[in-house]
Amino acid sequence: MTPVNVLVTGGAGFIGSALCRQLVANPQNRVVNLDKLTYAGNVASLGTIEHAPNYRFVRGDICDEHAVLALMQAENINRVMHLAAETHVDRSIEGPAAFIEANIVGTFRLLQAALKHWQGLPEEEARNFRFHHISTDEVFGDLPFDGSLFHETTPYAPSSPYSASKASADHLVRAWHHTFGLPVVLSNCSNNYGPFHFPEKLIPLVILNALDEKPLPIYGTGSNVRDWLYVDDHARALMRVASAGTLGESYNIGGHSERSNLVVVETICDILDRRQPRQSGSYRDLKTFVSDRPGHDRRYAIDASRIERELGWRPQETFETGIEKTVSWYLENSWWWGPIRAGTYAGERLGRVAGP
Ligand code: NAD
Repeated sequence: MTPVNVLVTGGAGFIGSALCRQLVANPQNRVVNLDKLTYAGNVASLGTIEHAPNYRFVRGDICDEHAVLALMQAENINRVMHLAAETHVDRSIEGPAAFIEANIVGTFRLLQAALKHWQGLPEEEARNFRFHHISTDEVFGDLPFDGSLFHETTPYAPSSPYSASKASADHLVRAWHHTFGLPVVLSNCSNNYGPFHFPEKLIPLVILNALDEKPLPIYGTGSNVRDWLYVDDHARALMRVASAGTLGESYNIGGHSERSNLVVVETICDILDRRQPRQSGSYRDLKTFVSDRPGHDRRYAIDASRIERELGWRPQETFETGIEKTVSWYLENSWWWGPIRAGTYAGERLGRVAGP
């Protein structure tokens, strides 16, 4: 079989590292991980595959079109899985410029490099080439508490600078398909959680603040609802979409696990109460309600029936099994999160960020 030479962008991040670990497990894949190593990128997340013969890490910026094109040509890339992005909604409110640069300009530059590379491939190889753009359900905006779901056809209505930048990138990817014929597939996924998740995001923040006896900050009344998906389930879905998705189409990916932020925090507290009890009282006593995030969407929920029906994917974890595994991982892997929590960045921010 022809090897699949995959360029993963953002592979030192949370989801990208989970994807690289799964891709490298199949010797048919050769994985080139291109990552700028922003504050969110961490090569320690790739320790288990660092020396694998079918894995290579390259530090670089997707905005550098010439370098990316040269890398694609040198590595004979026939699949791009594009995850590199700025991803934290609170940061996008405080400083949107980095999101415009990485998520919109970066995707544009990467598309241009991919187009030139694809156009230069021999016909047979060009036919097998694919560009998979990884996106979020936040592009669809805000849902009421009425049981409605995001479908692939739901109109885009992003609320935050983060989701607007991802929506822009999705539109660019579709335009490069319709106008230039670049073979693309897209996926829009709900909130992920699991090992190696940077501790500014809700779930790791709550676990680690609880262990440190610090307040567990919750936006507003904690009623905002997200659909949670275990990161390894997302990585499996991405491999299905990249290899078997219909060109030009997008696939919604979700976990059938809608939970309010308050329920998420209380579930973590209950697991910790069982696994590592406090000297007195419950971890729930550390809950602290803080003023709401501006423009905070009330609810996200995904209809994932298309990927289930057409590509045979289903999540293996429920929220209950996934969150138990996640808490266990943080209890056992302070070598990974300890240095992050101890850094200047951690001291500056971790006490007050409370959103997914
Ligand atoms: P993350 O913040 O953990 O990782 C992002 C990675 O991209 C980092 O390693 C960073 O160094 C790298 N990066 C940023 N700018 C770059 C640039 N200009 N060039 C090269 N590398 C760059 O993000 P994540 O949570 O793993 O998300 C990955 C992708 O999945 C993003 O595109 C995000 O929008 C999408 N997504 C995330 C979620 C979620 O819940 N985390 C859900 C749906 C979709």
